[in-house]
Amino acid sequence: CGIVGYIGTKDAYPIIIKGLKRLEYRGYDSAGVALFNGEQFIASKTKGKVSDLEERAQAENTLKGSMGIGHTRWATHGVPNDVNSHPHFSNSGELVIIHNGIIENYEPLKQELINRGYTFKSDTDTEVLVNLIEDIQRNKGLKLGKAVQVALNQVIGAYAICVMDIKKPNEIVAARLGSPLAIGIGEGEYFVASDASPFIEYTNNAIYLEDEEMAIIRLHKPIKIRKIKSDSEVSPYIQELQL
Ligand code: GLU
Repeated sequence: CGIVGYIGTKDAYPIIIKGLKRLEYRGYDSAGVALFNGEQFIASKTKGKVSDLEERAQAENTLKGSMGIGHTRWATHGVPNDVNSHPHFSNSGELVIIHNGIIENYEPLKQELINRGYTFKSDTDTEVLVNLIEDIQRNKGLKLGKAVQVALNQVIGAYAICVMDIKKPNEIVAARLGSPLAIGIGEGEYFVASDASPFIEYTNNAIYLEDEEMAIIRLHKPIKIRKIKSDSEVSPYIQELQL
């Protein structure tokens, strides 16, 4: 299971695919990618290897964009198949998420969302989280970062996540509890990954998120880090990686 995200001016797709391959050692059963192509999100996902994902993405022409997220899945909730692979979209299609970890209390959360009219395509705990974020955005009129924070405060479990919102096409929100997440800081570009190996060739400046921290990563803006529970701001500690 691994996560790669990119926001910048380069093509995100090759960076994400190469990054997912570097994370292959972590083990996985499916892979997927979602990109913002300047107008909308485009996504491909499949059971199998990253090389299967490459074939599918070529066939579906989901290759263009300078912001995107990619995932390798180690199934915990729902069998390994195409539908259960990440990324997962919210019901409106406006939010898209990748997640490593487990949302333990997904069943009651899912039931509540179903009562409110939400439908689910997959059997994953992850699809519950992305719709919970959407529901919070709608009910409380919150922006992406705040809505993610409120949602994570309702969640029991472990996660490394990246979320994108079509209403905020220059932003990736990332968060972690129990699963690793590193942010690479380049020149006019940011990377997110389970470890530094996907971005080490582009930058050696990295922030390692601590448990219960979230990051708002926006193009051409400084990274903002907050504590998910206490809401206090954390000043980013940028490490220089040894090459
Ligand atoms: N619990 C999620 C799922 O089963 C994420 C698994 C993972 O860490 O890859 O889809």
